[in-house]
Amino acid sequence: QIAAKYLYTDSQTVKAIIKPRKKFANKGNFGHALMMAGSYGMIGAAVLSTRACLRSGVGKVTVYAPKCGYEILQTSIPEAMCLPNESVDSLEKLPELEAYQAVGIGCGIGTEPETVALVEELLKNIKVPIVIDADALNIIAADKKRLKLLPENAILTPHPKEFQRLIGTNWENDYEKLKILSVFAADYKCIVCLKGAFTAIALPDGTIHFNSTGNAGMAKGGSGDVLTGMILALLAQGYAPQEAAILGVYEHGLAGDRAAQIKSPTSMIASDIIENIKF
Ligand code: AMP
Ligand code: MG
Repeated sequence: QIAAKYLYTDSQTVKAIIKPRKKFANKGNFGHALMMAGSYGMIGAAVLSTRACLRSGVGKVTVYAPKCGYEILQTSIPEAMCLPNESVDSLEKLPELEAYQAVGIGCGIGTEPETVALVEELLKNIKVPIVIDADALNIIAADKKRLKLLPENAILTPHPKEFQRLIGTNWENDYEKLKILSVFAADYKCIVCLKGAFTAIALPDGTIHFNSTGNAGMAKGGSGDVLTGMILALLAQGYAPQEAAILGVYEHGLAGDRAAQIKSPTSMIASDIIENIKF
């Protein structure tokens, strides 16, 4: 039984979404993004997602990270501002959100109790578009009541395992998977990018947009963090959440395809995807 409407994202779809950069623009026109990422041993996820955000047109990025990431982030990404929290090892306590046009959370944050509390507080207080990835999704999945906190049009970027945790079950076949995906997006009025080859993006109206770019060289640690940063940048620039998801996933795959051409699918790494982002 196929209930959802299926669409396919190609270069024409994306051309219709992309807004050209205006000649007299200044950085204030492209938003200030807040990336909440990293924990001890996972600061690389914060570096990758923040750098990808910067390569995707955003005006300014602040990365909120544990203290252990401060010098790493300041040294490796001079273009980003870093706001360290109190804790040395993990992400905790919600910072002021007023200054930001969009928020990203989840890359490498772990699941410490303080971080769980932070994710809950964020979901209760957020008033701007948000992209939710990785451990933030695992935190939501760990207590299904948290699903009700998801703001309307939140973008979720699970890989299949993370999505299975969110729904608390597995699927028997691909048709069932897509049906569950479409129902989930409709029920929670959110946008779910179910990642993999031909990432399937489900919108709150139940439609599913299949992506046409990307390759198996992206099946490596860090690739997903890059996507989160790209989508965050698009949200901060004012793209509507469904456009940010469709455009971000497409350009992420395209950057991965360029990286694979230069380095080969086997040898490319997530940093190569970032270096090949070209909007
Ligand atoms: P993550 O598992 O969070 O690191 O995300 C992996 C990223 O790489 C997602 O954006 C996937 O869509 C992409 N990816 C992984 N495997 C493949 C594949 N075989 N073909 C295309 N893209 C892939
Ligand atoms: Mg991931």
